[in-house]
Amino acid sequence: MPVAPLADLALEPYWMPFTANRAFKRAPRLLVAAKDMHYTAADGRAILDGTAGLWCVNAGHCREPIVAAIREQAGRLDYATAFQMGNPQTFRLAAEVAALAPGDLDHVFFANSGSEAVDTALKIALAYFQARGEPSRARFVGRARAYHGVGFGGISVGGMEPNRKAFAAQLLPQVDHLPHTHDLAHNAFARGQPAWGAELADDLERIVAERGAGTIAAVIVEPVAGSTGVLPPPRGYLERLRQICDRHGILLIFDEVITGFGRLGAAFAAERFGVVPDLMTVAKGITNAAVPMGTVLARRGIYDTIVGSVPAGIELFHGYTYSGHPLAAAAGLATLKLYRDEGLFARAAALEPYWEDAVHSLRSAPHVLDLRNLGLVAGIDLAPRAGAPGARGLEAFGACFERGVLIRASGDTLMLSPPLIVERAHIDQIFGTLADVLKGIA
Ligand code: PLP
Repeated sequence: MPVAPLADLALEPYWMPFTANRAFKRAPRLLVAAKDMHYTAADGRAILDGTAGLWCVNAGHCREPIVAAIREQAGRLDYATAFQMGNPQTFRLAAEVAALAPGDLDHVFFANSGSEAVDTALKIALAYFQARGEPSRARFVGRARAYHGVGFGGISVGGMEPNRKAFAAQLLPQVDHLPHTHDLAHNAFARGQPAWGAELADDLERIVAERGAGTIAAVIVEPVAGSTGVLPPPRGYLERLRQICDRHGILLIFDEVITGFGRLGAAFAAERFGVVPDLMTVAKGITNAAVPMGTVLARRGIYDTIVGSVPAGIELFHGYTYSGHPLAAAAGLATLKLYRDEGLFARAAALEPYWEDAVHSLRSAPHVLDLRNLGLVAGIDLAPRAGAPGARGLEAFGACFERGVLIRASGDTLMLSPPLIVERAHIDQIFGTLADVLKGIA
């Protein structure tokens, strides 16, 4: 793959997202191509993708069936409005996603990102209670350390403080937060779901008692908190949240933007944990990230209630110019077929024990405070360097990149989520590199 000449590349105009712009532009890390498990860096080096892009390229990069489907769709129908019009591909994708989802999560609303999916789900929850004649149910419950994207709804129910700080003056006003489930005293170095912590879900009863059940529309959680550093749910926790929501007529929303499409060795976390939410948000893996798409799945009763609440005309005043974009729909259909053809969800499940052992091989590596894993995901807490929190995480990320492995760092927590086509040799390379890098970091 030829590498484009980059010497004259202007770096300044691009205001990069979630990036230390000044530091990056002093020492840019540029990727120019990708295939299967690897990126090609601008200097021609192969970089093993330990993060599936950003938890999204589940089938690996530039997979031919997906590329071909996008190419074909772009030449046939590049765009069609989704308002009062439709195109067959989008209906087909909705039917396939609905068929894949558990229970009666069988109506599918399209957006373009996880953030949009989250804000859409929150709006659907409000519209549902309006339609039921219960407008007082307007509060949301999120969770500390949660990531639900960057829309105002998402950062309001989210709990990653740096993402909220600059915008705190105008967050949604009626939101409470459950405690997060990370507890080193009880659960350090747990393999898979930690044994302790189901009772943390009971905090929802406290919020209900304080606010009144009749004021709460929905609880939103990531089944496995991802961006905050990979926090698998304690055993029994999600089941208990489901029971409490049912007891009080509160909708449960699972944000499966990361956990959807095989990441946990099943189509969805809802399937893996046997807990069916009322609304589910997905994005990322639905198109293998080749074209942006976000999606909300709603249980039939929610759709029926909202759609049946007006005698005629538009039922939900919500949607995006690019909702159900034909290119995204084509990419989604090809992606789901590839997942099926290659049995990638089952492949992830079969690799999980090997992955788990590899993660926990770092137990005695320098600086390691905790290791967590579930499916093909891992979180590694490093002890912060005195007076310089985040420095170790950033150095580990940079050193891994120099050695040809892309990992993710959030502060001093490292995160891994390789494409589901990962081979054992790649897993060995990822953790071998990490072990070396940790030895070399002060
Ligand atoms: N929700 C969760 C659980 C996520 O992990 C993310 C992104 O990582 C989002 C929402 C936001 O998705 P996007 O970046 O596509 O807006």
